[in-house]
Amino acid sequence: MTDFLGDGLIKNYLAGSWVDGDGGAAISVEDPGLEEHMAYCAEAGEDSLARALEAARSSFERGDLADMNPSARGRLMIRIAQEIRAIAQEGGRLLCRESGKALSAAQDEFEEAAQYFEYYGGVADKIEGKSIPLGPDYADYTILEPYGVSAQIVPWNFPVSIAARSLAPSMAAGNSTIVKSPELDPIGLAMLGQALDRAEVPAGTVSILNGIGRDLGARLVASSEVDQIVFTGSVPTGQAILRAAADPVTPSLMELGGKSAAVVFEDADLDTMVSSLKSGIFYNAGQVCSAMSRVLVHRSIYDEAVERAAQMANGLTVGHGLEEPEHTPVASAIQMARVEELTSTARQDGIRVAAGGARLDLKGYFMAPTILADVDPASRVAQEEIFGPVTCFTPFDTEAEAIAMANGTEFGLVAGIFTRDLARSHRVARKLRAGQVFVNKWFAGGISTPFGGVGKSGFGREKGLEALYNYVCTKNIAISLKG
Ligand code: NAD
Repeated sequence: MTDFLGDGLIKNYLAGSWVDGDGGAAISVEDPGLEEHMAYCAEAGEDSLARALEAARSSFERGDLADMNPSARGRLMIRIAQEIRAIAQEGGRLLCRESGKALSAAQDEFEEAAQYFEYYGGVADKIEGKSIPLGPDYADYTILEPYGVSAQIVPWNFPVSIAARSLAPSMAAGNSTIVKSPELDPIGLAMLGQALDRAEVPAGTVSILNGIGRDLGARLVASSEVDQIVFTGSVPTGQAILRAAADPVTPSLMELGGKSAAVVFEDADLDTMVSSLKSGIFYNAGQVCSAMSRVLVHRSIYDEAVERAAQMANGLTVGHGLEEPEHTPVASAIQMARVEELTSTARQDGIRVAAGGARLDLKGYFMAPTILADVDPASRVAQEEIFGPVTCFTPFDTEAEAIAMANGTEFGLVAGIFTRDLARSHRVARKLRAGQVFVNKWFAGGISTPFGGVGKSGFGREKGLEALYNYVCTKNIAISLKG
């Protein structure tokens, strides 16, 4: 039974209590696999935001997390992980319905969220400074301090695991955090709030508010009460947030979009490539920032690669997420329209459709798994983030040409290489403009491997020990021992 449901409305988790909305109209949450209304969510207004900010500030100044014994803080986070696992079944079903993703993928989000809390719980007592030698007349050392109040804005494609990805290191470092849930699928985050509440996090150290991005989100990031912003989402929103952060000079972490390319060399194992593509572009209906949205293939194996990719795409099972199909709907009517518009423009421009290419005639926002072939690298579909189950194949002749094409967008999130030549994989990996390079397996890596972009994919890194340093600032203490 959920703690956050009152009068049929999903409430806000504000400083240890579940509260109604004081914003505008309640936000309607839809099941995209049925195109049916599913629930209403209470929208937090100005008063709720002010209360959350005040509670976060007070809890930080009291030292509720920052001054807690670091091992005890780590144990609190392990308790949160346990509570997340306890709600993963029910939470997964709700998240599956509100997001459209497969049930197992939704449950995996809760498992991944639990792992983030375990991972960062384990480092809560290892956030160490260093001592700097200045000769016998000085003692000099650094300490790593939390920022204070961290404002975190979460996207809808992986709301639970991405929220945990930022919240866990933020808490491990001792910050107080306000999370704004995504308007399309806020229920999974309410479940996360329930796990935090049941683990008895100190009131005020975490609030989770529901609201529309341009209203609540914009007010949260512009607040002078915020000491740090963590944003995961699209480039235009990231740019708007950076503008808002400029006046108060609020440090910001930007995890933005991508248009990531796999480079498939002539010696690649095509079975491996096709199985990577299946998850790389069709997992979560391609709504993944690090999706395998471009595939550059050596001309000598290009036709075979396109044919095998098309065969795989045409063979995927399709259905509502609860039926555990291989292919699920996109998250909303808006997303559907964007994917359809970009794909039909590509068709009109003469780009070859090797598989799919149009919306499926089913109830729900189902785009056919789509393989576009012979795509001009300068075309819109090869340059813009589609954020749907559509990938673009392009042939290349030389390694240098492949690297130039892979690097030829304004993004730089991840990239991939498929080859049996070890020396080539190292050489090319260093030349690819991306925050992470996968070799012979798309989505290789895990919660401990740093993740983030260059160019318009953003800056700063999440995941791994590296991410912890986003959530602390260094203070140097220099002591003269003379006199
Ligand atoms: P979005 O930018 O539309 O929204 C993201 C969040 O920002 C939402 O919670 C929204 O309410 C909020 N928001 C909107 N306007 C705001 C404003 N003016 N001020 C403050 N908050 C505001 O993105 P989306 O459609 O939810 O997510 C998809 C995008 O996120 C894609 O571009 C994807 O690549 C990117 N993404 C990146 C990563 C990563 O780690 N790099 C991970 C997941 C998604």
